[in-house]
Amino acid sequence: MHVRYRCKHCFSILAELNHQRLTFEQLGFRYFTTEEQKQMTKKTESGVVDVFVICESCEDALKTYPDYHELDYFIH
Ligand SMILES: [Zn+2]
Repeated sequence: MHVRYRCKHCFSILAELNHQRLTFEQLGFRYFTTEEQKQMTKKTESGVVDVFVICESCEDALKTYPDYHELDYFIH
């Protein structure tokens, strides 16, 4: 499984894991419901699974400008 951690705001790639035997359970996804997993992850056409998180710079920006929480996408 090829997993990419991407920021859900700026879409930058934070980390990439590419292991044949990697499973969702190993990534800690068993702690989430199926619905939450669907919201957080997206399988691309090439079979790569994108996991959406928030990167540090977006987190900082959100702390400084809480209004940005209402926007799905912004440039920092
Ligand atoms: Zn970001």
